[in-house]
Amino acid sequence: MKNRLTIIIVIIGLILSASIGYMKGVFDGNSGKNLSLITTAEAKKSGDQPNPAAKKHSPVGVVPDRDIYFPGTEPLDPNEMRITALGTGQPSVRPKQAAACFLVELGNGDKFLFDIGSGSHERIAAQKIPYDYIDKVFIGHLHVDHFGDLASFWLGGTVMNRLTPLRIWGPDGAEEKYGTKYMLERLQEAYTWDIATRAGFVDFRGGVLEINEFDHRGVNKVIYDDNGVVIRSIPAIHAIDGSVSYILEWNGFKFVYGSDTAPNSWLTKYGKDADFVIHECFLPPTLMITKQGFTAAEALTVSTIAHTSPEQFGKVMSEVKPRHAVGYHFYNDFDTQPEVLQRIRKTYDGPLSLAMDYMVWNVTKDDIKVRMAAKDEEVWPSPALKEKQAPDQSKMVPMSDWNKSGWLEYPEVLNPIWEEVNKKYGTDLKPKL
Ligand SMILES: [Zn+2]
Ligand SMILES: [Zn+2]
Repeated sequence: MKNRLTIIIVIIGLILSASIGYMKGVFDGNSGKNLSLITTAEAKKSGDQPNPAAKKHSPVGVVPDRDIYFPGTEPLDPNEMRITALGTGQPSVRPKQAAACFLVELGNGDKFLFDIGSGSHERIAAQKIPYDYIDKVFIGHLHVDHFGDLASFWLGGTVMNRLTPLRIWGPDGAEEKYGTKYMLERLQEAYTWDIATRAGFVDFRGGVLEINEFDHRGVNKVIYDDNGVVIRSIPAIHAIDGSVSYILEWNGFKFVYGSDTAPNSWLTKYGKDADFVIHECFLPPTLMITKQGFTAAEALTVSTIAHTSPEQFGKVMSEVKPRHAVGYHFYNDFDTQPEVLQRIRKTYDGPLSLAMDYMVWNVTKDDIKVRMAAKDEEVWPSPALKEKQAPDQSKMVPMSDWNKSGWLEYPEVLNPIWEEVNKKYGTDLKPKL
């Protein structure tokens, strides 16, 4: 028995020492031909010339410039703009693609959201930008896939440290009830209960909505002019009257955001020679029929009349001639992208991105760089930028005695929690429903 145990221990020992020897060979360079981290000294010894690019790498250092954007880690040059896709898909949102939303950040510190479609709030949060800095939202039209996450961003923001009003721009409609103002007033009514739970409990300055409605028929009319940034609107053609596209100009840059529109003459005229143009590029009818079960009639109408199909998108871009064109608003997958691209290339051969969520573009006078952003799925809201004020007690909506009557106080559990916090933070608070 003892002998057998000795044999087993010896065998294990041999296996371990062989493994360590092999590992040592890998890490000390004996079998280092397979490794990219060869030091200059080792390269000289072996007769190889060191690759100058290897200087950037070290076995213990930081690997710089990994061709990925980590939100919150890169300052913006005063003459640079950064555009981040935070929703690029269809109205039916999915983990890979939220609905329409693009963030534009300028080197002067201004930040703008163009559309805030369903599912985009979490992508906005992933940019790690304090909510007070993202206080300007421009809505192209009132389809839910273009403003569906507004309520979540607006009201959620009141407990996520937004302490400034949220400013919304959007078009009026052919009738009052089709306009942005009508929608926003009723949105506030719809969230009466939600607001009642917050207004008396938290600093609610970030819950105030500033409504800026403008004429949807305005052609290249200025709707925003501040801090060197001018934003104009042009009419779009989509569904019914009341859709617009936006043109932002700053520091010699021209940025165009189409929202939803069929090809139209306003965009090709006023968007001409822009630096950066985001325009919808819907799925071709064939894919809507085969993958989404649309009838031929439905697919043709939706893809080419209500929206802009890939060939039409290419035609628009070949007239606008932007420094960079971005197509969005389709499920951008391994099997759809080749067909969409091939159809665009029938009519446009210029610079192009087919947007996916978390795609990022850095735009300077000399260059437009495209990367993907890393996403931190465990991101927390940034701290408040201003000192918080005490809640307005007059807005407090009391709970009834009837509702309170069901409360299980569990003082033996509750009191120690309050005492712990009071002791740690020097307060003298008492639990009360
Ligand atoms: Zn739409
Ligand atoms: Zn849409």
